[in-house]
Amino acid sequence: MDSEITIMGKKLTVIKSERKRPKQSGNILYIPVSFDEHALKEYLRMRLRRIIKSEFSKLSSSGKFFLVGEINFEIVRNFRDKSIISMLKGSTILVREDTIKLSRVDIREILIHELAHIFSSHHDEKFLMAMRYIGGKQRRLPIQL
Ligand SMILES: [Zn+2]
Repeated sequence: MDSEITIMGKKLTVIKSERKRPKQSGNILYIPVSFDEHALKEYLRMRLRRIIKSEFSKLSSSGKFFLVGEINFEIVRNFRDKSIISMLKGSTILVREDTIKLSRVDIREILIHELAHIFSSHHDEKFLMAMRYIGGKQRRLPIQL
């Protein structure tokens, strides 16, 4: 049975194939025959994690900020408050799994937002400065998923 999913702002048709691993080709995501809904979700979480990590390494190699210690990333199903898409908890950035639907630019923006929270827990002047400094343009996050 074919279905549709959105990955990074792009609508993809999911098709089962003889492949051992998922592969995206154009607007088609080929997944192994053995993949059930759980395996597909696991794959999407892995991809989101990879996107976030690669955006983080791009941002941190820009030299605009320096963090002592390590940031962890965790993909979560959802938060108790359904309107929340990401959160900083200690040194861990939690991101809701359906964020994979958003464009790379938006995912990056979410990351910048949470990184800025390392410098200030409130959305105050210090936070906005950190956001601008880290590399985000100051704009509203898309909430619609
Ligand atoms: Zn915030």
